[in-house]
Amino acid sequence: MKLTGKVALVTGAGQGIGRGIAEVFANEGADVIVNDISTGEKTDQVAATIRSLGRRALVVQADVSKREDVERMFEEAQELGPIDILVNNAGVETIVPFLDLTDQQWEDVTNINLKAGWMCAQTFCRRAIHEGRKGAIVNIGSIQAARVLPGRTHYAPSKLAIEALTRNISAEVGLNGIRVNCIHPGLIDTPMIRWVLESPEILPQVVAQISLGYPGKPCDIGYAAAFLASDEARYITGQSIYVDGGWAGK
Ligand code: NAP
Repeated sequence: MKLTGKVALVTGAGQGIGRGIAEVFANEGADVIVNDISTGEKTDQVAATIRSLGRRALVVQADVSKREDVERMFEEAQELGPIDILVNNAGVETIVPFLDLTDQQWEDVTNINLKAGWMCAQTFCRRAIHEGRKGAIVNIGSIQAARVLPGRTHYAPSKLAIEALTRNISAEVGLNGIRVNCIHPGLIDTPMIRWVLESPEILPQVVAQISLGYPGKPCDIGYAAAFLASDEARYITGQSIYVDGGWAGK
């Protein structure tokens, strides 16, 4: 198991990719803090799965786009002990034509997709460095860092910027033993993109761009994240990798 004895915090882990990452991490031996903006049945189910794998789980509600929530989340997370791994997964996608996009719509998306990851990484690194501990951060970007889809002039930049965030943070905390990497998922079967999967018009157009010819599953992102967070990736930092069935490379 790659993550035995580690404690991981996964944001937006109530469903979709975050849930997949949390469950793969538990399967690899990690205890997991399950964060989401909305908790209840969905987060309880994730926690139950983690516990059924013999690991500890803690659900922490927080809106990670808010500084006070981020600080509180890390405080409450201490219940599982010092955090070794942070996965910045929480994100939102809206589709608005460029000419119609409002300031508020821009801020709503960039605050969660980009600023939240920056704040969580900063809080994680400050604590780890203060306590003299090493760590690993995995940021979740998007295929849209490399491919244009209509109506995403706010979403796509927020995801491409995660590459720069990843590189820049990794350069500042490398000597403290903290590694920072990014995964760009392709089309992954989650509630966020269910409308694509259920559209007989759009789905074939998207799948035609994927070399492997089918959508990925949340656990596919989880496997890559587990590797990047593990000691097997001890000499990898500042990198962004596409886990997309060959979409970006086609
Ligand atoms: P999802 O199914 O919508 O799940 C995202 C989870 O994050 C939801 O549980 C959501 O809660 C939570 N969340 C949203 N805002 C939050 C906040 N401010 N604080 C804490 N939690 C918050 O999305 P997904 O498909 O799993 O996507 C996960 C990440 O992968 C996102 O960053 C997304 O941009 C990225 N991504 C996904 C795909 C894909 O094909 N699925 C492709 C590329 C990139 P609520 O539902 O209650 O709002």
